[in-house]
Amino acid sequence: MTELNGWAGRILNVHLTTGEIKVDSLPLEWQRKYLGGSGFASRILYDEVGPDIEAMTPENIIVVTAGPLTGTLAPSGSRCELTTKSPLTGILGRSNTGGIFGAKMKMAGYDVIIIRGKSEKPVYIWIDDETVEIRDATMLWGLDVWKTNRKICQEHKARLVDGQFLNGIGTLTIGPAGEFLSMAACVMDGHAHAAGIGGIGAVWGYKRLKGIAVRGTRGVSVARPKELLQTAKKLWKRTEKDPVYPMTFKWGTMGWVGGAYSRSHVARVFVGGSRNEPIEEKGFEPLIDGYRGCHGCALHCDHYLKVKEGKYKGTKGEGVEGFVQIYALSFRTMSAAFLAKFNNLCNQLGLNVSSVGSAVVWAMDLYRDGVITKADTDGIEVTEGNEEAILELMRKMAYREGFGDILADYPVRGAEKLGKKSERYAAHTKGQFAWVPGHGIGTTLVYTLGLNTATRGYDHLTGCISIYTKDFRPEFGITDELLIKLGQERYGDATVFMEPWDVNLNTVRAEYDQENLLYMCDMIGMCKFATQYNFPVDGVYYQDIVDLLMAVTGEPFTVEDVIEAANRVNALQHAYNAREGIRRIDDYPFFLRWKLEKGEPHPLYAEDQVKVSLENYDAVLDEWYRLRGFDLKTGIPTGAELEKLGLKDVADDLKKREILTEAV
Ligand code: SF4
Repeated sequence: MTELNGWAGRILNVHLTTGEIKVDSLPLEWQRKYLGGSGFASRILYDEVGPDIEAMTPENIIVVTAGPLTGTLAPSGSRCELTTKSPLTGILGRSNTGGIFGAKMKMAGYDVIIIRGKSEKPVYIWIDDETVEIRDATMLWGLDVWKTNRKICQEHKARLVDGQFLNGIGTLTIGPAGEFLSMAACVMDGHAHAAGIGGIGAVWGYKRLKGIAVRGTRGVSVARPKELLQTAKKLWKRTEKDPVYPMTFKWGTMGWVGGAYSRSHVARVFVGGSRNEPIEEKGFEPLIDGYRGCHGCALHCDHYLKVKEGKYKGTKGEGVEGFVQIYALSFRTMSAAFLAKFNNLCNQLGLNVSSVGSAVVWAMDLYRDGVITKADTDGIEVTEGNEEAILELMRKMAYREGFGDILADYPVRGAEKLGKKSERYAAHTKGQFAWVPGHGIGTTLVYTLGLNTATRGYDHLTGCISIYTKDFRPEFGITDELLIKLGQERYGDATVFMEPWDVNLNTVRAEYDQENLLYMCDMIGMCKFATQYNFPVDGVYYQDIVDLLMAVTGEPFTVEDVIEAANRVNALQHAYNAREGIRRIDDYPFFLRWKLEKGEPHPLYAEDQVKVSLENYDAVLDEWYRLRGFDLKTGIPTGAELEKLGLKDVADDLKKREILTEAV
């Protein structure tokens, strides 16, 4: 490779302790091997942050990465990736965001930003193409995300209208939640896009890093612009034919949740609690005041909402995502206006929606069952449907006030702090909370597999087969006939998407294929919603990714190349976690793990209603390990597999630490 296209070819290093700023060249072999985004970041984290480094120490690093498609005209090429050792889980911490920061960072000429050390006083990093400065952020410390963005825009003469940056800069910032080291703290891209999972915002707060603002004016070099334009047009046109397109175009992820998603994915088999009916997407229609999208995305799945009457009158901002509706089910609120308020408050305080939602659901379950009382909750009645209580708990979580200090450490440390056997109610995998305790286990066996084998803990965004299953939402075009046809065409098996509880090795194969697709997205900088993850028939798939990569980079790629790269990064992430002590037992849903460890069923699960058992889960887990080339006994990538993927140095490292064993 002589001339670089797609990749900027540069790594920006900022050391907050010493103040040193330097730019390194991206190692050339990384481009084909790891593609970009989460691929580059996983390699850097593996090399720099070993088991001897704690998350909340100056030696932990923050890695911001973009992919080769980020900032180009490739469909939904908006994404950037934030990676660190997670203070919540102690393992790989990574989160992905859309918005505009990734595109601006690429346009300023950087694929990677690495932040090391810890500042003594609050700072933010200002990047203006070649100019990079660590600036005093004393005047920003204590401000919420929206006020911080406004101040940064004033300082750098950028325009911000209704939460949208209009001329030139992008920001990543934390709010009070990050400053107070809440494990629910996310990093916000602009006003409304969040890199949320794993307490990433708390690492920024620990380092006294309020944010990064970037102005990028150099564009992204593309090898064959006409070819890229034609390919992008062709893909958008094809996507428009997909049965799900009208739903996504109008409702975004809200369409997933209203109706069947809520009923099937959020099965209520835990602690006997009831849930109300979902607020279907139509409930938000009176609030919709326009649509919003990330860089380069014609889908604009995001909505701008305005509450025009009632007690939340005046609330306006971007959202609500499907996640929020899931919490509405568990909070037992039917108010779309409240959810708009809840969503905005998360964005302003820099709180991750699902971290807050899962912690509050935990508190509600504990309160309902008398495990905790007002004496534990600073006098707040944590009853279902109590909207004021939810908003107050959120504020306390952000500032670590009183009971909020426990919620801020949900699930594992929070339950330890609270005691009272509250860990029984804290559903998590590898320390990462489940959305709500019953999520996923009402869906399909392989959906459960994907959620629990993911490298950042419980995760629906890297380890999951398409959410579409039998009885999903036929009114949105996901009919049983369609699913039968897709199963037949793709796997020669009509039941792949139709028999969610059978042990069917073809479904594990489908899950593995989908997982690779999601890995590719995070590596190249593309939004998953543009792919077959969301558009089951006509969405972007492997060959399209190859076409886009070749047009953007000018490099020859094949489908085999990108699958191998996805496998490589997946194995590298699992190797990272193995080095931190993660083993097969950590890949089970928490109620099965309980059974394995304690020899008895989880006391709060209605076993007769749970279709996931040790027997059927072990069968699919074994098959998934086989496909991935992992050792069945330990759940760790084998040495042979790592070497096959060009990760001999990783295999050697694990051998030296006596972590690798022979394949079973
Ligand atoms: S589909 Fe939605 S989240 Fe994805 S890039 Fe487009 S607007 Fe952003």
